[in-house]
Amino acid sequence: MATILKTAENSEVSEQAVRRFEVNYRGIFQKTLAYRITKDLVYVAHSEGKTAFSNGRYSDDPQRNGVPCANFAFFSNELSEEELEAFASAKMDIDRADIVSVLDDTMVKGLEPWGHYGIRPINEKVIPGGTLLVVSKRNPEDLIRFLERKPFSYRLAILPGDASFAGLWYYRDDNTDVRMLGAIAKVAPELINFEKTREYVRKTYKTDEKIRAFQEAYDSVSFTEVTPNQGIEWPYPKPVLPAWNEFEEGIVVKAVPNEFKMGPRGLARNPNYKRGTSKTQRPVVRFDICTKCTLCWYDCPDECFDPTPDGLYDVNYEYCTGCGRCAEVCPVNDCIVMVDELNFSDNNSPWESYKKDPLAYTKMAEEKKGKGRMMPSFVTGKGEKTTEITKEVPFKEAKK
Ligand code: SF4
Ligand code: SF4
Repeated sequence: MATILKTAENSEVSEQAVRRFEVNYRGIFQKTLAYRITKDLVYVAHSEGKTAFSNGRYSDDPQRNGVPCANFAFFSNELSEEELEAFASAKMDIDRADIVSVLDDTMVKGLEPWGHYGIRPINEKVIPGGTLLVVSKRNPEDLIRFLERKPFSYRLAILPGDASFAGLWYYRDDNTDVRMLGAIAKVAPELINFEKTREYVRKTYKTDEKIRAFQEAYDSVSFTEVTPNQGIEWPYPKPVLPAWNEFEEGIVVKAVPNEFKMGPRGLARNPNYKRGTSKTQRPVVRFDICTKCTLCWYDCPDECFDPTPDGLYDVNYEYCTGCGRCAEVCPVNDCIVMVDELNFSDNNSPWESYKKDPLAYTKMAEEKKGKGRMMPSFVTGKGEKTTEITKEVPFKEAKK
């Protein structure tokens, strides 16, 4: 049975009266960008005579670097401004969306926006026949292998591009804002009309470059139908948020037990604050050339390294935020390299895999690393720097 909404006049309107758009972004880095996208969508919809409203998920501020956040835009041909605002503005989150968009493709591995409430699938809110729109240079198959299997079909739309770092406090414009408008005009012409959106971009941004970027994005979106048998069984418990009347009185913050043993997962950490889904890259360690200098263990801001019985340092990827600090401080050439998170499908201990077969682990590490070596820029505003290596550091057998 269709869900019924009550309007201000208490007349009944079907659930279909409101179309929902969600943009998932990395906290802080893409904050201004996500705001621009939903704001522009509302302006374009208004120019077409539609009612539209945008807001952000309650509790996503203050945001931390990389933490998944979301903004929303709501559209209606039937409700008044006041009715749509009354319907949409008091929500902590939404439970379904016609279009779910993603500004960083590593978020297809899951989202942890509510901290200890667990990891949610990125396609959780997509409705039957809806669209998951991802900015990515990957093939559809490379993304679908991380998505939760749904009991219905929906579309995967890909806008070719990199994860933007445009929206820090200073807006470093890279055209992702208008590129997303172009992609949405293609994905959902019933929400925003191509010609009206193009006119809005021309009037608002006033440069040929913006119009070119908008048009190029519109032309380059590709579609793949995701069928009910595609995707994975979701490996994490599904988070359930408490209702307002289910919160306990007062606040109980349980102490983290102070435990330590040698080896993987040896350090006690706060299980309610795993930030593994914040990362777009993970550190890959070449244990065979590690000099056991301790710097990665000492400098990691999230205490992700576990000392091992043989003097090495294992990484706990469930807690690693991908900040790149360990790769920066490691004094050994090519010993810790930051690698695209989508190249990995589990969070298993790399040290255990190294101990099992050092040569096979090292070969796997080199394959995942590829030839490009990128170091994050630490809030310099100068962008990422990537260099190509000409030869690999050879495998070094451990002394018996
Ligand atoms: S990238 Fe390195 S330093 Fe940063 S959180 Fe992960 S393990 Fe720690
Ligand atoms: S910083 Fe590099 S060399 Fe030093 S312990 Fe860590 S991995 Fe080994």
